[in-house]
Amino acid sequence: MNTRAPLPLIDPFARPIRYLRVSVTDRCDFRCTYCMAEQMQFLPKKDLLTLEELDRLASTFIGLGVEKLRITGGEPLVRRGIMTFFQGMSRHLESGALKELTLTTNGSQLARFADDLAACGVKRINVSLDTLEPGKFAEITRWGKLEPVLEGIRAATQAGIRVKINTVALKGFNEAELFSLVEWCGGEGHDLTFIEVMPMGEMGEELRLDQYWALSDLRGRLAERFSLEDLDENSGGPARYVRLRETGQKIGFITPLTHNFCESCNRVRVTCTGELYMCLGQEDRADLRAPLRASAEDAALVEAIRAAIARKPKGHDFDYSRAHVAGQMPRHMSHTGG
Ligand code: SAM
Ligand code: SF4
Repeated sequence: MNTRAPLPLIDPFARPIRYLRVSVTDRCDFRCTYCMAEQMQFLPKKDLLTLEELDRLASTFIGLGVEKLRITGGEPLVRRGIMTFFQGMSRHLESGALKELTLTTNGSQLARFADDLAACGVKRINVSLDTLEPGKFAEITRWGKLEPVLEGIRAATQAGIRVKINTVALKGFNEAELFSLVEWCGGEGHDLTFIEVMPMGEMGEELRLDQYWALSDLRGRLAERFSLEDLDENSGGPARYVRLRETGQKIGFITPLTHNFCESCNRVRVTCTGELYMCLGQEDRADLRAPLRASAEDAALVEAIRAAIARKPKGHDFDYSRAHVAGQMPRHMSHTGG
């Protein structure tokens, strides 16, 4: 038997792959306008990886050196039995192979699951929240209600989980709430990250360009009221951080449309059907479901993962700089997970 540790995953640009995002469902109880159409055609159940397959897949990546696992969707907490998966992953935290288990959620089910998540070793989560006004929340999520989300955030905090708020910057929608969001997060002790809207899904081009609020502009407005101190922190992720000197708050900016983070990209994504995307902004992918289902042995799966990582691209091709939305991806964010 070969007892040597397997070689870690290193891509052609010498970037070690340490971070895996797994989408556990394409379904959601919200229909955020920038993410989904109101009438969505979801995948048949047989196409989804089972909870056991998700466990095996994530565990294989962890065996290959992945240290950080983020669970996303769709809305991960609407997947039936998902706590079984979290419980399974907690064994890798206990063994020390996994350094962080986390999730991105819309918060609607958090009140119910916060304690269980904390018990599984989840210490930090991202909650998406674009507005603090109930009417506007209903408008942007189409089906969501603000109060249960706020309740969920409180439950998570009480359970000892650190909450980071993710806010998609939307022109004409939450521009006027910039300072109230910053203030609320400061008061509640949540970090805050703004995300530039990305051209995902087959939404109309006009709508996209209409909603686009450049984070350079958002940052400029923040700077009118606060002194911004650039932080060097780089988690290999797409966010850049500043500290507001007056309040000590950390604010993140995710600008996926610039290339400022591709060089240090250490992440890959798996969809709920087992497709491995080596880059959020490129269509190239590898099917991991077939090798998963073909054999109970992991050899073919590992080989498929290695072959895919060997073609991880240098970066993506999104570009808003021209009048049309170049590099637009036909798939929805809920497919690959944010
Ligand atoms: N349902 C969970 C949630 O909303 O947090 C997890 C999945 S959601 C697809 C992940 C993140 O993607 C959310 O923060 C959401 O705001 C963001 N997102 C969705 N569509 C986007 C788009 N077109 N541009 C930028 N961010 C987007
Ligand atoms: Fe659902 Fe999250 Fe997409 Fe909103 S952003 S529709 S909550 S998956």
